[in-house]
Amino acid sequence: MSSNLQNLYRQVIMDHYKNPRNKGLVDDGTYHDVQLKNPTCGDDVTIQIKVADDHIVDIRHEGIGCAICCSSASVMSETLVDKNLEQAAMITNNFYEIVKGEDIDADLDEDEMGDAFVYSGVSQFPARIKCATIAWKAFEQAVDEVSFK
Ligand code: ZN
Repeated sequence: MSSNLQNLYRQVIMDHYKNPRNKGLVDDGTYHDVQLKNPTCGDDVTIQIKVADDHIVDIRHEGIGCAICCSSASVMSETLVDKNLEQAAMITNNFYEIVKGEDIDADLDEDEMGDAFVYSGVSQFPARIKCATIAWKAFEQAVDEVSFK
């Protein structure tokens, strides 16, 4: 990866960290929450989703943690909102490939990944993969719990 690209990715991560999108939980009873912690880093993330007819209407997040974890929650919320559950699962699985340094599915439209590509550099720091994925894991768990309620 070129250092210009790495700089750009770092800027995007810092922007989401400093100006998180969709931050703050909603307490109106229409959301489902999942909290996950990453003790090795101190990350503590709560993801809230609102789903209607297999459609992700809203995603909120709250928590404390490192820049990778908190920015990733913001990126996740922006990337997966307004998707249906099947699209969201596909994007999430491709995100896990990105952070491992693998290629994404050829049939996935790259635009659908939003800013998620900026975490491709994380593959060089295996200890941080958990930081990058914790919000996405919480999202997946929230979807599972909503779907099988
Ligand atoms: Zn972390």
